Amino acid sequence: MQTPLIAGNWKMHKTLAQARDLVKGIRDAVDGTGGGAPITAAEVLVCPPFHLLFPMAKALAGSRVMLGAQNAHFEPQGAFTGEIAVPMVKETGCTHVIIGHSERRQHFGETGPLLAKKVRAVVAAELTVIYCVGETLDEREGGKTYSVIERQLGEVLAKDVPAERLLVAYEPVWAIGTGRNATPGQAQEVHSLIRSRLSAIYDGRTAGTIRILYGGSVKPGNAADLMSQPGVGGALVGGACLEAADFAAIIRAAVGARSQAR
Ligand code: PEP
Repeated sequence: MQTPLIAGNWKMHKTLAQARDLVKGIRDAVDGTGGGAPITAAEVLVCPPFHLLFPMAKALAGSRVMLGAQNAHFEPQGAFTGEIAVPMVKETGCTHVIIGHSERRQHFGETGPLLAKKVRAVVAAELTVIYCVGETLDEREGGKTYSVIERQLGEVLAKDVPAERLLVAYEPVWAIGTGRNATPGQAQEVHSLIRSRLSAIYDGRTAGTIRILYGGSVKPGNAADLMSQPGVGGALVGGACLEAADFAAIIRAAVGARSQAR
């Protein structure tokens, strides 16, 4: 079974002082510096807003908790006011970049051709990409979930994206920030579809190594059920990652669910 990756997407939240408190709480839980046992059976990632990347890298020095960015431009530099390049986020100490989050698609008009370039810029810099896909409620209710996910995967992923630098996050748009998570069965069903599309791009064995995260209202109370699904390789967490105790509870639930499933 894959080691789960639990990633926290802070979105546009936290001042520097708040971020320091949050990261200390997460470190204490994951590294065991808070008095409890360290959590070694999960990989943990935090994705703060850009202004916090350097100070959070410093706050995480020597920790098992990894640092990621929520977005990046596809060009390495240039006249793109307000944007940030992949080499810049790499310089802060980031190992991962989220690309294609539904909020980027919805509010910033990001579509397949642009996201394909961003994904390639991330892997070219030898960082790991978390590529997000997911259907809206209308699309689900209209029976279009499979076709939407297939399109979002097909227009961005291809064999030139190294599998070892790729994670896919299934994030149904109707579940993000709504408190209404996909059921474990719904998540497993779409994760299986994603795995079969990845098998068509790579091959079955390689596709089996790519972790597929579930995201959408993951909370301490539902994480164990979601993470016990065999196709679910971790979680991308929004709201519940903003409190260290909740995020740590999700990480522990994921570890517990995986050890029971073994
Ligand atoms: C997200 O933004 O990636 C997300 C999953 O948010 P939430 O957990 O708040 O639904």
